[in-house]
Amino acid sequence: MAGHQEGRGKMQRSVNAMGLAPAVFLAFVLLLVGALPAGADGYIVDVRPRGMAGPQADVAALSPQPLSAPAVASGRRYEVQPGDTLSAIAARFGTDVATLVARNGLESADRITPGQVLRLDGEAIPALALPAGSPLARVHFWPWPPLQGQTLSVWLHTAAGSTPSRAPITITLTFDGRPYPVHFDGARGWALVPIPPLTPPGPKPLQIAVGEQVWRAQVPVVAGTFPSHNIPAATAQPILSATDKVRAETQRMTALFAEMTPGGWTPRSRFTLPLAGDFPRTSPFGSRRTYGNSAAVSAHAGEDFSAAPGTPVYAPADGRVVLAEELFVRGNAIVLDHGNGVYTGYWHLSALDVAEGDWVTRGQLLGKVGSTGLSTGAHLHWELRIAGMAVDPLQWVEP
Ligand SMILES: [Zn+2]
Repeated sequence: MAGHQEGRGKMQRSVNAMGLAPAVFLAFVLLLVGALPAGADGYIVDVRPRGMAGPQADVAALSPQPLSAPAVASGRRYEVQPGDTLSAIAARFGTDVATLVARNGLESADRITPGQVLRLDGEAIPALALPAGSPLARVHFWPWPPLQGQTLSVWLHTAAGSTPSRAPITITLTFDGRPYPVHFDGARGWALVPIPPLTPPGPKPLQIAVGEQVWRAQVPVVAGTFPSHNIPAATAQPILSATDKVRAETQRMTALFAEMTPGGWTPRSRFTLPLAGDFPRTSPFGSRRTYGNSAAVSAHAGEDFSAAPGTPVYAPADGRVVLAEELFVRGNAIVLDHGNGVYTGYWHLSALDVAEGDWVTRGQLLGKVGSTGLSTGAHLHWELRIAGMAVDPLQWVEP
């Protein structure tokens, strides 16, 4: 059960704390959502916070003191046009290149692309308070501040002249008491920190230890906007009567999502949508659910799209097929391993067009929409797991 709790610990705790349901019940509650009829819910939500739409790449310096007031972007913006250079933009708006680089969390002055939106001014950026000689020059986050259900990217920029690859240092990152791996890409390090949708809003402690030095910051998790509704107890009956099968399937999936394949996905990676065209989003990620008369609240672990049976499902990014078979709850299911602990799942398919072990590339046919497993209407449930936790896949869909 240890692995089981790892993936769903946050959600389990929130329910068990109310003394309402054993862990097993919650596990299937989360699954059941994916099995709900796409059309029966009768609602479509098309407006909600999206990471891509909010402030991006805000620079925040970590200091030995907790950050009391997070920098939230405001002020003038400029959209980079073809042919622009950062120095020309700086001259035009009366600033300088170094300021723009720092204010926008840019890796270097020549890494701007048309369409990119730059912050020209705004809130004061906290002064760097990293001690002289620190191997870290700067830390930045995206998105900032993060919403419930999003994944916080943490970038660690090493100090000029520091070559951690030659002088290895140990960097550990913990968020809200959990450790996350730090990956290195040349002189930059990064970590993906999933924030489950039921995480209570408010400041959460982030700690980065670099060798002997430790920095602490408070990450202000902002409440997302999630629809909520009640599911009649009768709908849960098929799953209620098969607890052992449900538990076994949950444990298997949890173990699968806990594997870490090095390489692949980075915070700069993006998805395309797994369905081509506009399909109603019948149950957004993170939707709050209650069941019958129970006061227990769960959150939808994926994004549901209503689509006709047979609608093609495409790989949103490159990856390895680590599961392609029929399951009791999820029906015909596919799981892709995108690397570095990032997985996507596709449930209730009518056909599987790939096999376990296949390497698939973005846009490749995976299977077809269906209503297999515990589902009462054709839909695609698309799920993203990072470090075992279900987080919002749409944060990573390229605009
Ligand atoms: Zn679903």
